[in-house]
Amino acid sequence: MARYTDSVCKLCRREGIKLFLKGSRCESPKCAIERRNTPPGMHTRRGKQTEYGERLREKQKLKRFYGLLERQFRRFFSIATRSTENTGEALLSLLERRLDNVVHRLGFAPSRAAARQLVAHGHIQVNGINCNVPSIILKAGDKIAVKNKPHSIQAVKLNQQSHMEPIPDFLEITGSEPPEGRLSRIPTKGDADPRLAKDKELKEQLIIEFCSR
Ligand code: SF4
Repeated sequence: MARYTDSVCKLCRREGIKLFLKGSRCESPKCAIERRNTPPGMHTRRGKQTEYGERLREKQKLKRFYGLLERQFRRFFSIATRSTENTGEALLSLLERRLDNVVHRLGFAPSRAAARQLVAHGHIQVNGINCNVPSIILKAGDKIAVKNKPHSIQAVKLNQQSHMEPIPDFLEITGSEPPEGRLSRIPTKGDADPRLAKDKELKEQLIIEFCSR
């Protein structure tokens, strides 16, 4: 499986905003973008943006925030276009319902990358069945639980103690031994991670225009 292996802080510096890809480090003074908010590489000036560039950056921002590669993002976009809802809202809802995102937002892992590893390493069950696929899309009512094994529970409890973000409305914690949660309803655009639009509002329309070319 392809994956991004370079420094993730370069992605934030390229987009010029915090993408919160490294858990607690992102909130600390060690955050790379707080120290050096310039694009990575030799050419460190941000030039004037073209219309194409503006749309491209918006798409890259969303894709990188949720830790997706291009092909995975296009697959989600294609599902969203077939939805009866507004494409931008359907896309955000799908991204929020990915298992790795839900594990992160329940506070079981400090970042989406860590959540993906937790799932891939077999520490998570969905509706009582072991699941090691981080990209599955959950449905309303699905139960997400940490496997009832001491090393799985210990890893998650440490993360829960240091998790600072509030649990979003569309999720609820239903148990603590082992930690469990539930997707109580389908998330809407308003339930998207508020950190996505913390520095600059997300313009989904530009993403749709870019991907529909
Ligand atoms: Fe690195 Fe996190 Fe700061 Fe981004 S927000 S530059 S991932 S520390």
